[in-house]
Amino acid sequence: MEKIKEDVLILGGGMAGLRAAIAAAEYNPKLSVGLVSKLYPLRSHSVSAEGGTSAVLNPKDSFDLHSFDTIKGSDYLGDQDAIEEFVRLVPEQIYTTDHWGCPWSRNPDGTISQRDFGALSFPRATFAADKTGFHVMQTLFSRAMKYNIHFYNEYFATKLILNGGQLNSVTTIDLRTGNFVVFQGKALIFAMGGAGRLYQFATYAHSVTGDGDGIAYRAGIPLKDMEFIQFHPTGLVPSGILITEAARAEGGYLLNSKKERFMGTYAPHKFETASRDVVSRAIMWEIEAGRGVKGEYGDMEYVYLDMRHIADKLDERLPMITEIAKKFNGIDAHTELVPVHPATHYTMGGIDSNVKTTTSVPGVFVAGENACVSIHGANRLGSNSTNECLALGNVAGIAAAEWAVSHSVSDLDVAQVNDEEKRIWEDMLKRDGGENIAKIREDLRINMDKNVGVFRTADPLRNSLKNIAALKERYEKITIQDKASTFNLELEWAFEVGFMLDLAEIITAGALQRTESRGAHYRRDFPDRDDANFMKHTIATYSKDGPALTYRPVVVTKWQPTVRSY
Ligand SMILES: Cc1cc2nc3c(=O)[nH]c(=O)nc-3n(C[C@H](O)[C@H](O)[C@H](O)COP(=O)(O)OP(=O)(O)OC[C@H]3O[C@@H](n4cnc5c(N)ncnc54)[C@H](O)[C@@H]3O)c2cc1C
Repeated sequence: MEKIKEDVLILGGGMAGLRAAIAAAEYNPKLSVGLVSKLYPLRSHSVSAEGGTSAVLNPKDSFDLHSFDTIKGSDYLGDQDAIEEFVRLVPEQIYTTDHWGCPWSRNPDGTISQRDFGALSFPRATFAADKTGFHVMQTLFSRAMKYNIHFYNEYFATKLILNGGQLNSVTTIDLRTGNFVVFQGKALIFAMGGAGRLYQFATYAHSVTGDGDGIAYRAGIPLKDMEFIQFHPTGLVPSGILITEAARAEGGYLLNSKKERFMGTYAPHKFETASRDVVSRAIMWEIEAGRGVKGEYGDMEYVYLDMRHIADKLDERLPMITEIAKKFNGIDAHTELVPVHPATHYTMGGIDSNVKTTTSVPGVFVAGENACVSIHGANRLGSNSTNECLALGNVAGIAAAEWAVSHSVSDLDVAQVNDEEKRIWEDMLKRDGGENIAKIREDLRINMDKNVGVFRTADPLRNSLKNIAALKERYEKITIQDKASTFNLELEWAFEVGFMLDLAEIITAGALQRTESRGAHYRRDFPDRDDANFMKHTIATYSKDGPALTYRPVVVTKWQPTVRSY
């Protein structure tokens, strides 16, 4: 067993993790900062962010407008105090990354350009063409090189060890060698991203498997609002690759099989730039009404995204999606229609946290998609995640560094660490029940697409719980055929699927118990929002019999809930 100690330990090298690492190192350059990631940081899912990062930069815009758009977008489940504080933190991050070299797109006068985005009342999405994530990540990674940050790339975290409710250590596998490595930190930041690959048709990188949520949950840290899964209206059919919302914000239309522009029926004021839950449902309803396109891409019916009338903007402002349509579907978006269908895109839920990024364990912080603050409530607005990674990544980095300065590393809980080592090599690797891990993962994803998708109803949700219970039994009987110690990806999948099974159970149980429709959670059998009973967050805590669900009221400051229409 190898042991590594750092002052500040960060799990995850995406936008939130990198931003946190820089903040911790800047706060006190004498601190050692360790960043552990199952991928090289620049392969993190954050590089695929496309369309933009909301920030109040224009004097005609305001923090109140950004707050209200976010609260309305959240379908009044977002905590208003957190949202108000968050929007004020964002502009500084845009200017800071600008100074660090991020090539934000500019106006002819040299100021930073901002575009419209779904459900915004002011064009406040700053962007770097449609490669926002790529450019921000390159900027952060280059900046991180300046500091005392130790990168532990391709280390897979398996478990958080707590002792008496206090932070103790994190166990990992060094994927390159197969070595079992234990990390200890005075403070720890979770920045391990979302859980979207629980679903089959998703815009997410295949690495986004909810490990951070799963590890925290198993350690007893509660998760919040997990039933809220965002579906993005325009996943490219059949791959699911994202066609950014910026395409519609720049003027792209949705058309059904009759070539009718249908969004006016569902969102008479905002049309295609209504919030994502509204547009996703509209597409599904069009398909259900027989106005979907049955085409050349297998069984999935779809609608069209028409960008022909904005062809002159494509090369400069939307080059990536133009390239994606060409490379993956052979379609020239300047002259042809692009097939799209709602795809899983964002995990609104995550580790229960607040705008200070603290969790239920002292010295353990969380940032990015791994966290549920709750800024996004029941539905995240497009362009409101990368700014969260930057703003709250910064908060988490500073908070963890402050903590590290006045605390020490605890004595290693050798018994628990040894148990984990045994579990990996003697239980997981030697289990021999004949079940195939990739098949279990596929069956889980099919179950989630079918039973816990855009539309939800009691019976399919109950079926989902039964299916997940059966999958958990099969999981106990897996055989990992690859016995190698180096780059044993089958073993890594086994851990990921274990986390995914827990999370699927929490999502489904929360969805079944939430007998209302709010934001991305739409119950056909309870189509109305029920503020009297459900303006509250779902808190899921681990128990050996499945998640224990409790509720906590939403914080309201000055915006009383009203009917949400676009
Ligand atoms: C296609 C796409 C486009 C998007 N476009 C936008 C946009 O334009 N604007 C916007 O605001 N938002 C956008 N989003 C959302 C946004 O990109 C993400 O929410 C955000 O990038 C998440 O960043 P993160 O740092 O929290 O997680 P990630 O970037 O996913 O990073 C997670 C990190 O955790 C590590 N990790 C995970 N599990 C383990 C483990 N077991 N052990 C060790 N390390 C682990 C990974 O290696 C990775 O480094 C988009 C999302 C998608 C899917």
